[in-house]
Amino acid sequence: MSQQAEKTQVDSYQFKAEIRQLLDILVHSLYKERDIFLRELISNASDALTRMHFEMLTNQAVHEPQAELAVHVDVVEDGEVKRLVVKDSGIGMTREELVQNLGTIAQSGAREFLDKVKEGEASPGEIIGQFGVGFYSVFMAADEVRVVSRTFRPDAEAAAWISQGDDQFRVEPADKSDRGTEIHITLKKDAGEFASEWKLRQIVKKHSDYVGYPIYVGQEQANQQQSLWRKPAAEATQDEYKQFYQQLTLDFEEPLTTIHLASDAPLHVRALLFIPAKREKSVLHARKEPGLKLYSHNILIQEYNQDLLPRWLAFVDGVVDSEDLPLNVSRETVQNTRLIRQLGKTLRGRVLRELGDMAKNDAEKYGRFWAQFGRAIKEGLAMDPEARDDVLPLFRFYSSHSDGKLTSLDAYVERMAEGQTDVYYVLGDDLTSVANSPHLDPFKARNLEVLYWVDPLDPFVAPLLTEYKGQALKNIDDPDLQLPEAGAETAEEGKEEETTVPVEADFNRFIGRCVTTLGDRVVEVRESKVLKNSPVRLVSPEGGPGREMARIYRFLDQEYQIPKKILEVNRRHPLVANLARLVTEKPENLLINLAIEQLYESALVQEGLHPNPTLMLPRIQQLLELAAAASKGETTGE
Ligand code: ADP
Ligand code: MG
Repeated sequence: MSQQAEKTQVDSYQFKAEIRQLLDILVHSLYKERDIFLRELISNASDALTRMHFEMLTNQAVHEPQAELAVHVDVVEDGEVKRLVVKDSGIGMTREELVQNLGTIAQSGAREFLDKVKEGEASPGEIIGQFGVGFYSVFMAADEVRVVSRTFRPDAEAAAWISQGDDQFRVEPADKSDRGTEIHITLKKDAGEFASEWKLRQIVKKHSDYVGYPIYVGQEQANQQQSLWRKPAAEATQDEYKQFYQQLTLDFEEPLTTIHLASDAPLHVRALLFIPAKREKSVLHARKEPGLKLYSHNILIQEYNQDLLPRWLAFVDGVVDSEDLPLNVSRETVQNTRLIRQLGKTLRGRVLRELGDMAKNDAEKYGRFWAQFGRAIKEGLAMDPEARDDVLPLFRFYSSHSDGKLTSLDAYVERMAEGQTDVYYVLGDDLTSVANSPHLDPFKARNLEVLYWVDPLDPFVAPLLTEYKGQALKNIDDPDLQLPEAGAETAEEGKEEETTVPVEADFNRFIGRCVTTLGDRVVEVRESKVLKNSPVRLVSPEGGPGREMARIYRFLDQEYQIPKKILEVNRRHPLVANLARLVTEKPENLLINLAIEQLYESALVQEGLHPNPTLMLPRIQQLLELAAAASKGETTGE
């Protein structure tokens, strides 16, 4: 091949199958969000500029080392035809790279986009704006695209990539003497709106305002460029924070809280941290992994940094920028530096302080935080022993005295009765069942506050939280709790009921009947010293296996065995009194065993330990039938 032939060589290629599919969708539909193609081209330009910047840190032998690192967007009108040129002074592409990057490798954003569309989860028009569908989105607006590029290498030759967005593209030599890439877009007839500088400026402002390089539309710079996190907090507005957050995450909701952090000593750090309003992220969320965006000198060095904040604080989103980080840090060194540890400490302290302030000053807002991220804070207690003193004051629970509101451990301690030395809690499945728990009887009688631990994570928390500021925390299903004396009033009430109490022999017979009926499902059946309004309760045997474990297994859906407990019976309860009499008078009566079984299983439900409460329904039906028959007997006098 002669020199001349090589210089004019044109090669044609087929797009990779996935790209053809993507193009097919992009070319043949008209989308509201078409303007995102500019965002994509500018983002590619910005990447190319950053790579150029890095190259120049170590390599002086580049083409045009003095050229400004910038993006230019220009409108070219050529009679009827309207063109747009997006040009950067970035790293550029060789002929081979044009073929590789713009035709034969599928970008991850494009893949995901196609999957979503194929699964019918969303129509392309709705979600196109949410994805980095990349370079190919230009074909939403273009009849033809010509990419001309020259790399930074001094001896590089320019090449052009041309396609009409059908199933193929071609590459050929090109004339271009300056460094970087130019995208020449021949606009579709119906995309003439993009040939307006005013419109282009608007789009840049909306999607690319904080790109770290100047973006010129015509002669004027269109982006603010200074990143929001580098502005003094006093100059940034709530609206800017919100916009920034939504650009970063594509979350439709406003963040619950924004933290704008600026510090110069001991470290230089600027950060914008956000606590989202919701724990669940939508499928369209832009941040695919947890982690903070880490910048140094305004240049992105890590998209998802997970070393700055502990894992349990991973719900925090945002950007961190520090001039103390060397620009040319590699991923590994980012992880290991003392600097990162120091930075992390600063950030974590700031987040926890924010939460503490919110808890103190805005209980309603903190309640919303707790509902979404309380579990993360509980994880902090479990995973991070060092965090204990920081996170425990952030815990919130409902309680028997909190009037439907959340309460802190500190507030509980404030309210403790005279002579009360312990903090009490009850474990269960939900607020209603714990509020009616028989374990509460003696506490109600003494007006002692009990915390309601109804979150599935609370059984995990219990063994870690046995003490708070010198006070012991006690599970109230412990049969040996030493409670302060009950008040005089309640003692009198007890006397009034004396008449219904069964005689010793009847009661003992009933206890015996419980033992034979329940067999080895219980460790023991005995009289309760504390129950008042409930007929029975289940308590944990001394030294039995961790009582929280059964709940944990049930929550995890693992092989679950109902734990064996002690059944305590309230001899003063009318139901018990009547059953005891029945055992003496009509020991064969069907009702007795059914009632004992049901009392036991109801107690299991109450404890949140029943594997499947619907199994009780046939027995309940039987009991109802007996009750109906009995009352018919009464009314007809049979
Ligand atoms: P992504 O940006 O997610 O990698 P794109 O489809 O946007 O996917 O771009 C594909 C690739 O083409 C980029 O990864 C990059 O290698 C190359 N590329 C695109 N635009 C430019 C540009 N302006 N300068 C240099 N390389 C570019
Ligand atoms: Mg891209």
